[in-house]
Amino acid sequence: MKIEKTKEIGFCFGVKRAVDILEKICRERGGVETLGAVVHNQQVLQRLAGIGVRVAKDIGDIKGKAVAISSHGVAPEVEEKIRARQIDIVDTTCPFVHRLQTAARRLAQAGFLVVIYGDADHTEVKGVLGWAEGKGIATLDEKDIFKLEPLPRRLGVLSQTTQIPADFVNFVKRLIDGAFTRDSELRVIDTICHDIRKRQAQALELAGKVDLMLVIGGHGSANTNRLAELCSAVTETHLVETAADIEPGWFKGKRNIGVTSGASTAEAAIEEVLARLKNLA
Ligand code: SF4
Repeated sequence: MKIEKTKEIGFCFGVKRAVDILEKICRERGGVETLGAVVHNQQVLQRLAGIGVRVAKDIGDIKGKAVAISSHGVAPEVEEKIRARQIDIVDTTCPFVHRLQTAARRLAQAGFLVVIYGDADHTEVKGVLGWAEGKGIATLDEKDIFKLEPLPRRLGVLSQTTQIPADFVNFVKRLIDGAFTRDSELRVIDTICHDIRKRQAQALELAGKVDLMLVIGGHGSANTNRLAELCSAVTETHLVETAADIEPGWFKGKRNIGVTSGASTAEAAIEEVLARLKNLA
């Protein structure tokens, strides 16, 4: 059995940056609180808990005088509420997410309805809706826009950073077909993360060469699920959180195995999966 992994694997730039900031604060102050889970990966959260990172469920649950915001960012009103309680903010918002947030605000202030192609329940998207100052809508289905009465004349279209670029393009095409009426104005800004783009392209390329793909990452991680979704359209694909999820039966008759990971998967989990695969091989 031959095992090949993608070049981009493990923490993305934004998650690495957030984890580095938290580790530094823990070293200096002995611990830090985060508002919600800083990454959608149980193993990483457990390790961070071990060095003093405590997850506050909501603003009311913050016990100390400082709190870290995750790489997914938050809405400006959330920051205001934290500051109103005299709590300092440690901002680990990924710069790519911040670019999306400022694009949403710019479009809203210029009079556009901000359409965010993304999962309305995801932390990042909820934050971006806040940056759109109440003039935004998040959806993966263009029909939600067509239902608006009246249909806004000016639409500013953005994407959640971890969406699949081709799906975003198709969404925009359908939007043009259905919402482009007389005097319409549509402004589209590419806000998909470059790191994710690279990962998706490399995973797809590898999936095309192997008999089976393993995508390592949290079941609750949006970008991990998207990688698995992409690869499964090309070859048999399994999403595994840890080496324990691997079932030996999957590899019967398979010669070439591809391995990739989501953006919040730690190196240790990848090494563990690779070691298990080598054992099975
Ligand atoms: S996936 Fe991209 S946008 Fe999200 S944290 Fe990582 S680098 Fe930032």
